[in-house]
Amino acid sequence: MTEIATEIDSYLQRLFPIMRSITGPGNRETLRILQELVPLEIQEYLSGKEVYDWIIPDEWQVRDAWIKDKDGNKLIDFQKCNIHLVSYSEPVHDWFTFDELKEHLHFHDEFPEAIPYYTSYYNRDWGFCVNQAQYRQLSECEGRLEIMVDSDFDPYGSLTIGELLIPGRSEQEILISTYICHPSLANDNLSGAVMTAYLARELLERELQWSYRFVWIPETIGAIAYCAMNEKAVREIDAGLVVTTVGGPGTLGYKQSWQKDHYINSLIEKTFCESGKEFVTYPFDIHGSDERQFSSQGFRINMATVCKDRYYEYPQYHTSLDDLSFVNGRQIEETLEIYLGVIDKLEGRRVYRSKVPNCEIMLSQHDLYPKRGGLFRPAVNGYTELDLRMWVLFYNDGKVSVDEIADILGVEANLIEDECRTLENKGVIVRV
Ligand code: ZN
Repeated sequence: MTEIATEIDSYLQRLFPIMRSITGPGNRETLRILQELVPLEIQEYLSGKEVYDWIIPDEWQVRDAWIKDKDGNKLIDFQKCNIHLVSYSEPVHDWFTFDELKEHLHFHDEFPEAIPYYTSYYNRDWGFCVNQAQYRQLSECEGRLEIMVDSDFDPYGSLTIGELLIPGRSEQEILISTYICHPSLANDNLSGAVMTAYLARELLERELQWSYRFVWIPETIGAIAYCAMNEKAVREIDAGLVVTTVGGPGTLGYKQSWQKDHYINSLIEKTFCESGKEFVTYPFDIHGSDERQFSSQGFRINMATVCKDRYYEYPQYHTSLDDLSFVNGRQIEETLEIYLGVIDKLEGRRVYRSKVPNCEIMLSQHDLYPKRGGLFRPAVNGYTELDLRMWVLFYNDGKVSVDEIADILGVEANLIEDECRTLENKGVIVRV
């Protein structure tokens, strides 16, 4: 067991029991604990604020929730397991028959021992999630059951996010996003929130080429609010990673960003191939996490995800069985290494930008047009020296890297790098 794995385990233990949701004090507490690892800034977006097609909801807080039988025995207790309560449940304190209560109870069809995780963010309601034995016990109770949900909604509250900007030599940013809105669920997504902090901590120690924008946000509404509040900066971003479900015992995998051929996908694949680890490839899909917001029409960021037991795929997903017996520091560290490998690859990208993007440059004016046929290098893969020069000028738009141009043309990367140096010395392109 490495030092980092042990340390991650201790953070998992501390953070797991906290009641988190899309808003509320548990999210602040979570971010404050993560501040021990990295100097992330906690920001508050006020409830009621319009963010594109959405409105930041009232802040929800819950203190207690339970179901008691007629003799006062607590049969279901939120204090023992916070996913017993449907997230965003409205307050209630009343007596119900089982028949009346039934429509507010949820259990898992397939796994008798699992308590399922439910939310009701945008439909005011209340509910309890139980395992099948608890459901049976409630159904067999004589008389009425006492229901108590001690919660409230604060219209003057806020939605809490964490943000950390790590500057590199270039102002071009990579977005790294994770979500903090799930209560006691380990792989989805306490693993992601913690691993992201460790990733940021590592990058803080490095000299970086690119700048990195890290965000810890509630899923969906948090990402939407973040885009709305930071629209200009987010629009400039080309690529990023959504960190989710990174701590299971199963296979590593990656979900491609919306443009299959984007460099973020090939860098992840190369990282996996070099690591020798098996991995599953999930093509881009409209379902998933906050890539749905960041890749939407207004932003179109290529967001990929590296995961270990991806959401939807493992049977414990969104149940009480997604706990700390399923997730641990060693597994998270394994995924962290892949993320760091991807960062190394991102950092290794050599990218140039033409100083004359409007139409072709006049090669002869810059002494770049071969004067005599004899100056041509023999064709490489069918490209003459002039061909390569023109392709390099064509692709150097500040986004495509030397390696990617080499891959496209099917030639050695050092040939492209040499050509870029020549063009740089002539002052027609600059390294980004
Ligand atoms: Zn989830």
